[in-house]
Amino acid sequence: MALQGNTAVITGGSRGIGLAIARAMLDAGAKVMITGRSQDSIDTALAELGTGSFGHASDVSKEADIAQLCAHATDVLGGVDILVNNAGINPYYKRTEHTELAEWQHIIDVNLTGVFLCTRTFGQQMLERGKGSIINITSVAAHSGLTRSAAYCAAKAGVEAMSKSLTKDWSARGVRVNNVAPGYVKTDLTAGLAANETLRRTIETRTPMTRLADPSEMAGAVVYLASGAASYVSGTTIAVDGGWIAT
Ligand code: NDP
Repeated sequence: MALQGNTAVITGGSRGIGLAIARAMLDAGAKVMITGRSQDSIDTALAELGTGSFGHASDVSKEADIAQLCAHATDVLGGVDILVNNAGINPYYKRTEHTELAEWQHIIDVNLTGVFLCTRTFGQQMLERGKGSIINITSVAAHSGLTRSAAYCAAKAGVEAMSKSLTKDWSARGVRVNNVAPGYVKTDLTAGLAANETLRRTIETRTPMTRLADPSEMAGAVVYLASGAASYVSGTTIAVDGGWIAT
């Protein structure tokens, strides 16, 4: 599962699961570029990650931002072997009958269209080079309905369907596309849920392993899918969910 000589772009790598993936990829020998909208968060993360890490502030839902990110990454890294589509949001927790179109659109723009924009942009370069591995961070929400999260569930399931389609289009040209579907992980995204005693207990009870995960527990599956150890793997999803989907 070594990544020596490889280069990776990790969207939303400034915090949470993305930062843990960046750490693991550096440890495996890759050079990494992390993104996020906040330059301050990126700078804090880069100070911790150290040698071999680079950053570029950008919004995955903005086409021009992703074109600039790809140009900068190519300049600094000299070609991108691995793309981790990790940036994601779930800010509303509303039932659909109370959801505004703008709220639905916001989640789809970041969690689904953002994956399309990054995959298309970096995928074009990977196809030209005849090699590449794309890993999307989806969710158990792609497999089992989460309450008050219809847009989030739809976006994550959409990404998994996109990966299967891309596998048909790109496998023979050297580019693999896979997903890692986390269960509940202790990050800023779930801080509100985890701070609520009742909600946290509900999640712990529903999870066979009876706990939320640490972000570092997501990284091994991503490094595996990025590496040569997964050279015959495309279009699939590894659930790293404490058993959630199995029940
Ligand atoms: P965090 O909120 O901790 O971190 C999100 C990261 O994405 C930050 O780096 C953030 O930086 C960045 N980001 C957010 N919006 C954008 C945007 N529009 N463009 C670029 N970067 C953006 O989230 P997690 O680490 O928890 O989540 C990472 C991924 O894992 C997401 O796709 C999420 O859906 C998925 N996931 C998380 C689970 C969990 O329990 N935590 C469970 C299942 C899936 P900034 O704010 O500066 O832009």
